[in-house]
Amino acid sequence: MIYNVIVIGAGPAGLSAAVEAKKKGLSVLLVDKGSIVNSIQHFPTSMVFFSTQEVLEVGGVPFISTAPHPTRVEAVSYYSRVARSYGIEFKGNSRVMSVTKTSNGSAHFRVELKNEVSAEIGFLSADKVVIATGFYDQPNMLDVPGENLPNVSHYFREPGLHFGQKVVIVGGKNSAVETALDLYRHGVDVTLLYRKEAFGKSVKYWILPDIENRVKNGEIKARFNCVVKEFLPDRVIVDVNGKREEIDSDFVYALTGYHPDVSFIRGLGVEVDENTGIPVHHPETFETNVKGIYVAGSIVAGYDCNKIFIENGREHGKSIAKDLVAA
Ligand SMILES: Cc1cc2nc3c(=O)[nH]c(=O)nc-3n(C[C@H](O)[C@H](O)[C@H](O)COP(=O)(O)OP(=O)(O)OC[C@H]3O[C@@H](n4cnc5c(N)ncnc54)[C@H](O)[C@@H]3O)c2cc1C
Repeated sequence: MIYNVIVIGAGPAGLSAAVEAKKKGLSVLLVDKGSIVNSIQHFPTSMVFFSTQEVLEVGGVPFISTAPHPTRVEAVSYYSRVARSYGIEFKGNSRVMSVTKTSNGSAHFRVELKNEVSAEIGFLSADKVVIATGFYDQPNMLDVPGENLPNVSHYFREPGLHFGQKVVIVGGKNSAVETALDLYRHGVDVTLLYRKEAFGKSVKYWILPDIENRVKNGEIKARFNCVVKEFLPDRVIVDVNGKREEIDSDFVYALTGYHPDVSFIRGLGVEVDENTGIPVHHPETFETNVKGIYVAGSIVAGYDCNKIFIENGREHGKSIAKDLVAA
């Protein structure tokens, strides 16, 4: 079978693209290396969205949550329901390895998939491809020794696991700050290390006074102008204002952001700007320099991960679907 469209990445943007294409009567397959909304499945377990439910909706399906700001669990359940209600064909645990153009008369794309459980390789075909792979899989590495130790992670999930422990957090933006507060409120001894001299303006305005006051009171320890030099199993070596310091730690969360996998996008023949990480695309249709390959969601903004989120990334699918049927 040759699908009209294969959508790579089942985040909110990929799901929206699949739904909008299906609404236009196209045959669609949505694939993900993990589950549906795989990134959200791996967010901190008790996170609550800063957006309200109506601006997270996809395909016009009402999002009803117990409070205006839904929880992660409610969002996973909601997006699964959207996929079900539109009868979206979904292939999970399937990492797309490559997309190549066939040229055997009726040119279409050959999509190579690797089953993440069996490691088996398979191939599928489609007339058009939408890339909506997000950025959550690629943490910004500090590139210091010890970063791959088992007690150093770039993803925070569960505060209760660290009760009574000393936890070091690297970073000073929303994820780092929220994690520090959450851990502190679960009986954890928290030290936050940030390379800048103070928390920035990007920290949510309703969270900033909380973290500033916890630091002022010494309830959360913080080091500013702090550069991490090395992670060891029981401590972190840092440079604070040019002075070496050792900070005891049972566990470290290095929450210094994420970036899209531009090598994957380039591997599909899509040109990506060296500095911004933005894939070459038409601003209205989202078609890339490779005819028939589209981009959707947060990858459209390249390395600027604060520009496109669910609220606006969910809109890309409508423009893409319009172009798919016009082409
Ligand atoms: C803690 C936190 C809170 C947030 N709160 C909000 C909020 O309140 N409101 C808001 O609008 N945004 C919020 N965001 C941002 C939002 O989650 C992201 O912008 C959004 O998930 C991006 O959607 P996407 O579909 O582009 O990418 P993603 O949701 O990251 O989806 C990409 C998908 O592609 C899959 N994938 C990647 N590579 C491959 C491959 N090679 N083959 C197959 N599949 C692949 C991944 O498994 C993933 O499922 C928050 C983010 C975080 C981290």
